[in-house]
Amino acid sequence: MPKYEQILFNNMSKAGYTGSLKEYEAVGGYTAFKKVLKEYSSSDVIDIVKKSGLRGRGGAGFPAGLKWSFIPKDHVGPRYLCCNADESEPGTYKDRQLMEFDPHQMLEGMAICCYAIGAQTAYIYIRGEFDLGAEILENAIQEAYKAKLVGKDLFGSGFNLDIYVHRGAGAYICGEETALLESLEGKRGKPRIKPPFPAINGLYQEPTVINNVETLANVPYIINKGPEWFRTIGTEKSPGTKVFSVSGHVKKPGNYELPLGIPLREIIYDVAGGILGDKQLKAVIPGGASAPMMPPDQLDTPMDFDSVAAVGSMLGSAAITVMDEDTCIVWAAMNLMEFFYHESCGQCTPCREGSGWILQILRRIEGGEGRHSDLDQLLELCTRIGGRTVCAFGDAEIGPILSTIKHFRSEYERHIEEKGCPFHPNATLSMAH
Ligand code: SF4
Repeated sequence: MPKYEQILFNNMSKAGYTGSLKEYEAVGGYTAFKKVLKEYSSSDVIDIVKKSGLRGRGGAGFPAGLKWSFIPKDHVGPRYLCCNADESEPGTYKDRQLMEFDPHQMLEGMAICCYAIGAQTAYIYIRGEFDLGAEILENAIQEAYKAKLVGKDLFGSGFNLDIYVHRGAGAYICGEETALLESLEGKRGKPRIKPPFPAINGLYQEPTVINNVETLANVPYIINKGPEWFRTIGTEKSPGTKVFSVSGHVKKPGNYELPLGIPLREIIYDVAGGILGDKQLKAVIPGGASAPMMPPDQLDTPMDFDSVAAVGSMLGSAAITVMDEDTCIVWAAMNLMEFFYHESCGQCTPCREGSGWILQILRRIEGGEGRHSDLDQLLELCTRIGGRTVCAFGDAEIGPILSTIKHFRSEYERHIEEKGCPFHPNATLSMAH
């Protein structure tokens, strides 16, 4: 992919690169961490990351340096870094590649972050299903301990650091930062009410930073090349690259590292080769299952945090799912709601019960027993969920419903009028169940 500057995929795209410590060091690995220990105060590091404009790559896009600066400087007692490697958003598979193919760049980013926030202990909360990733990370951490890149009094600086891998048990909600903390503490993974935010009251009630794998992996390059360099890529408000996980009806699905702000059309038709079978595009999910769907007339949207939000969706984890003209939008919405209904942690009534009611109505429409009043009822249910729940999951689960009714209302109406699915004519109510 020489057309686009590669930061995180640069090493792994070299023939024969396996991501071992020796190979990572041969391409400049850990020079940023050593430089930080020798030349910078913790405040210097936070300032550099702030100046770079690096925004969280896990979904919310919150400025990383600002998040680090929220850790109270005068806090007595431990502080923690948790690397969110729970990557469970459907369609997202970028962190997995970063961890499996170049684990040390993320570990180096973690070490720099720990130095900046004064943490001596870091956890990697990795999705339970990622057996290989967990094994590779464990090996990489052992390599780093042996090389004295992790451990006590690193390079005579007096800075100590321990890193642990903690495997989740496959719950989507544990990707939500406070549910992740609860799970890490050995409790059921339920989101906490915020405030207080983790920077004040996080893991074991101590100040904690939680950053995504991709976010942390960018940090060594920002230290080595400078925040100004980082800002030459991407857009003014969304600097840098983003790893887009492209899936669905495209000719070349895969992870692509591209500058933020690249038009959606370019990703689908140039980078990913266009629609399978040269069919027409019907809809795109631009940022993981919880991102509202976009219709084809939004194809020229620049793929950065603010531009995608401006057209009513969100960049999220930048997992792009492409659907061609033969996709049933009602079925797609139902499929997404099956997921959300299953993954609701059950703590809030609107989310727990509302997702079930929405699913029931979608199944009815898809199965040929929809009523004209169903669309109004779906919209009414969404208003009773959005903004009324402990975590953002409630808003996330209504995104696909609101966006599909807004952009594809006629397809819902066709299901109701024709008493069945035009795309799956043999579907019955029982099949839809
Ligand atoms: Fe749990 Fe849903 Fe409430 Fe989030 S919104 S805390 S997932 S019930």
